[in-house]
Amino acid sequence: MIRVAVSGAAGRMGATVCGAVYEAADMELVERADPALGVTLEHALVQSKPDVVVDFTVPDTVFDNARLCLEHGTHVVVGTTGLSAEQVDELRSDAERSDGNCLIAPNFAIGAVLMMEAAKLIAPHMPDCEIVELHHEAKLDAPSGTAKRTAELIEEAGGRQDPPIHSVRLPGLVASQEVIFGGLGQTLTLRHDTISRESFMPGVLLAVRKVAGIDGLVIGLENVM
Ligand code: NAP
Repeated sequence: MIRVAVSGAAGRMGATVCGAVYEAADMELVERADPALGVTLEHALVQSKPDVVVDFTVPDTVFDNARLCLEHGTHVVVGTTGLSAEQVDELRSDAERSDGNCLIAPNFAIGAVLMMEAAKLIAPHMPDCEIVELHHEAKLDAPSGTAKRTAELIEEAGGRQDPPIHSVRLPGLVASQEVIFGGLGQTLTLRHDTISRESFMPGVLLAVRKVAGIDGLVIGLENVM
């Protein structure tokens, strides 16, 4: 059994993750940390000694939370977006020194991962592109972590450097993204829509199962699929 604690357990994603972990035959939900529940992550780490922490909190706290997990030698799966490149570099160093690993996934939905893979394939052939990301109105960070990661992957694949990202925040949306490539007399559009937060759960559970086997810090679910 993998002992799992969820950080941000009272939030939209955290509550859904708690349900998915509870239902998983090979996992035990040992702690739910969240200010709303009166349980700190530090308390969860010390009292329940989880094997893995899953973090779906807020951009302001995710760095400190991930760092705390690594200080305790606990593996951490990070779903929260908004980490800066410098913060990721610091966590990479922390993970190298720690017994715990860190798996950061800007998007746990298989369709979104495949959209990013397809963008890499298209980018060298149709380098001109722009990204439109659309999320619910309560999302705190913009642009989204998925959009920033897609832009990085397009650049690395030989597409446009620093592709423009357009952020839309509206009620009724969960999470969607379009990548529009333009060429001579033609366009090619990739679009992914998240209809419900359940879409992220197979990816989150896969990350929980795989994080112990990675080397230090890894970004992207595609690296453990
Ligand atoms: P949310 O509903 O606002 O939930 C965040 C929760 O974290 C809140 O209950 C918040 O409590 C709590 N929290 C704040 N500080 C904390 C701390 N130090 N320790 C523990 N819990 C703390 O947000 P959400 O919609 O679930 O989204 C969470 C994050 O996941 C966002 O960054 C979002 O972009 C990201 N996300 C990622 C994916 C992916 O596939 N990677 C998918 C969807 C969403 P308070 O309300 O009291 O502050």
